[in-house]
Amino acid sequence: MSVSSPQPGPYTPKVDCFRKPSQIPEIPAATARTLDAVAERFAFRANDYFLSLIDWNDPADPIRRLIIPDEAELNDWGELDASDEAANTVVRGLQHKYRDTALVLIADTCAAYCRYCFRKRLFMRHNRETSGDLGPAFEYVVLHPEITDVLLTGGDPLVLSTERLAPIIRRFAGIPHVRTVRIGSKVPSFNPYRLLFDEALKDLVTQVTAGGTAVYLVAHFDHPREFTDLACNGIRAMQQAGAHVVNQCPIVRGVNDSAEVLAELFEAATELGMPQYYVFQGRPTAGNESYAVPLVRGWQLFDAARGRCSGLSRGARFVMSHATGKIEVLMVDDRHIYLRYHRARDAADESRIMVARRDDQACWFDELELLESFAPTN
Ligand code: SF4
Repeated sequence: MSVSSPQPGPYTPKVDCFRKPSQIPEIPAATARTLDAVAERFAFRANDYFLSLIDWNDPADPIRRLIIPDEAELNDWGELDASDEAANTVVRGLQHKYRDTALVLIADTCAAYCRYCFRKRLFMRHNRETSGDLGPAFEYVVLHPEITDVLLTGGDPLVLSTERLAPIIRRFAGIPHVRTVRIGSKVPSFNPYRLLFDEALKDLVTQVTAGGTAVYLVAHFDHPREFTDLACNGIRAMQQAGAHVVNQCPIVRGVNDSAEVLAELFEAATELGMPQYYVFQGRPTAGNESYAVPLVRGWQLFDAARGRCSGLSRGARFVMSHATGKIEVLMVDDRHIYLRYHRARDAADESRIMVARRDDQACWFDELELLESFAPTN
């Protein structure tokens, strides 16, 4: 499978979409039938660009692992909404968990689907969390002057055409107290053609930033092999248009659960001027058992990866996006895990330090035995 050469000009989609594993010629028919059954439960989508990055001779290829289903996804494990995002939903499609940030779900599809996705519930038939009518979301932000940051997410906002995206971004950016608009997206990796050749998207970013609202593209590269020349040029195109770009990803078994791979990822991101921002502990989401890495192991990999990097690549935090807040893993010793609320849903937990008994099997905060907890005093 080859990637066609990009041609400059007006943006037109350059990638074909596969909806079933059985449509991919490299997957043997018998395997594909089993994987089609997995895709019936948890949505599957891939495009020829991303599939071209797979080494089909390697059954454990990390890029393959990112988007080709695993039979183990059908194991009974985890919750569909593992960090209780429903509890933060104040109007349909808008979550308000942290004082200054509104998270708005503006799309219920992605360019391709990461197998370890924590929002796979959005791609299921019964999803009613997103809305075609963002009126109530705009109104909510207008009425809450404490919201200075709007995070557009989904699904992936960049699956929307620029024609549909532009009025959304302009309207949020036009609210006087909104200072940053973030776009969380894996399109820079899944379909870099969009960033390279969509001139209207670049103009939109330039105009919004010129108007005084910073635009952040929160990219989502999980493995250094995703940094193809096309993807790197797509990131540069966004930066030249005026966007700030950062990267975030979870640690995923079989994809990037290696200190060498993580270090290479951090360094590649730094080189592009898109520093690694968060590294996430995977949420215990339904279907994700085979992608889970225990918390202690995740911290060890993260810490070892940072140790291999220059200072510029050591800025990321290793966090759990828990129902109660973003909990950073600070350190692990022989007996304890040391944690701190980086962001807290309840003000009383802000910057709280917690000490838990070390448990090398635990994959999530709720599985830990908390021994001590200290809140700062002013
Ligand atoms: S891009 Fe994000 S929302 Fe879409 S499948 Fe991947 S993790 Fe899920």
